Amino acid sequence: MDNCIFCKIAAKQIPSKSVYEDDDLIAFHDINPASPVHFLIVPKQHIATLSDCDEKHAALLGRMMVLAPRLAEQLGCGYQGDGTGNGSGGFKTQFNTGPDGGQEVYHLHLHVMGGPRPWRGQR
Ligand code: 5GP
Ligand code: ZN
Repeated sequence: MDNCIFCKIAAKQIPSKSVYEDDDLIAFHDINPASPVHFLIVPKQHIATLSDCDEKHAALLGRMMVLAPRLAEQLGCGYQGDGTGNGSGGFKTQFNTGPDGGQEVYHLHLHVMGGPRPWRGQR
């Protein structure tokens, strides 16, 4: 897509602080982090929003979700715990969709936010 900032980042026409790359996905640090660790997992293919996804995108979306905890761990904000309320670390995963969802960049991306609190504007 012409004039799509995340297509340009995926094509290396615009620099980013890379976290991960494979044939289908790229991950890079958010330029305006909302938390100590804030990166975006982005498909290389241009898909505008989560609402443009259907069954044929299920595997890609699944890979994005599975990658999130792996990269969070590598960046020091993985969840360490026993699967109950005990433990430490952890992160938030978020897709913003459309105006009411607060989406600013219309190329699908998964926010992964973690690190010690407080975060910007949040406890
Ligand atoms: P949205 O509101 O669309 O879910 O989030 C878009 C995110 O992309 C924002 O958190 C914003 O800071 C980030 N962002 C926008 N432009 C750039 C850029 O050129 N480089 C990087 N690394 N992040 C960007
Ligand atoms: Zn794009």
